[in-house]
Amino acid sequence: MRGLRGKVAIVTGAAGGIGAATARRLAEEGAHVVAVDLDEERLRKVAESLPVEGHWVRADVSSEEEVTGYVRAAAERFGRVDLHHLNAGIPGSFATLPTLTVAEFDQVMAVNVRGVFLGVRAAFRQFADQGSSGNVVITGSIGSLRGSADLLAYQTSKHAVLGILKGAAMYGGPLGVRVNAVAPGIVPTDLFAATPEVAGGKDDMSRRASSTPLRRAGTGDDVAGVVAFLLSDDAAYMTGEVVSVDGGAAIV
Ligand code: NAD
Repeated sequence: MRGLRGKVAIVTGAAGGIGAATARRLAEEGAHVVAVDLDEERLRKVAESLPVEGHWVRADVSSEEEVTGYVRAAAERFGRVDLHHLNAGIPGSFATLPTLTVAEFDQVMAVNVRGVFLGVRAAFRQFADQGSSGNVVITGSIGSLRGSADLLAYQTSKHAVLGILKGAAMYGGPLGVRVNAVAPGIVPTDLFAATPEVAGGKDDMSRRASSTPLRRAGTGDDVAGVVAFLLSDDAAYMTGEVVSVDGGAAIV
């Protein structure tokens, strides 16, 4: 892909399934990756396995201070920041509307929405300080486009990031900053392990995946390829876009 070699890319949620795949793919394309996550042990392994020299920073994306800190750390390590994949996320539990607590709702919003807002803002500030353009991809979800009776907080958070996407793309366009999103469908990562009760568990996940037009669940690599494309110059005329990576599930 054009325009990724030598770029400095931050990936959040990089210890997880989709984030680790994106970190690896960007490094394979020649980018220096700064991997960010809460899970220090897995994070280190991901960063150390990259084919191009990378760096890792343990940070909580819901903390203003820590988000400022990881962007600063990336800029100090590699001299600049060009690309940011805002991917960290949590599912929340399987709770129907009457049982969903305020504490859980707030926690999902703090990570999935405030975390994206803070990361996009910090990236824009860094691009401005550098006097450069830049490029951002947010991980939304098929849940950004659909409702759910039992993952209300999660789906709400994934709708909300589309508001950040659109506002940031409109603000960033004249500055040469592109902002896009991917909307994955079913990708069997730890996100599902954290919510085994979601819609009947893994068996039901397999059944749902096999009813998509492509008849299978997605992989981290399926999503990573699209993220890398959006971050590359091959997508130079795309901004404010939400690209589904769901085996066609959105059209069923
Ligand atoms: P995952 O659980 O494997 O990875 C998520 C990562 O985010 C984990 O490594 C976790 O430690 C990290 N994280 C959680 N809270 C954090 C915080 N406060 N600060 C920093 N890091 C934090 O799950 P995944 O499937 O790779 O999810 C990645 C993204 O993809 C999420 O935003 C998720 O909502 C989205 N998504 C996943 C699917 C799917 O089917 N797996 C579908 C649609 C969207």
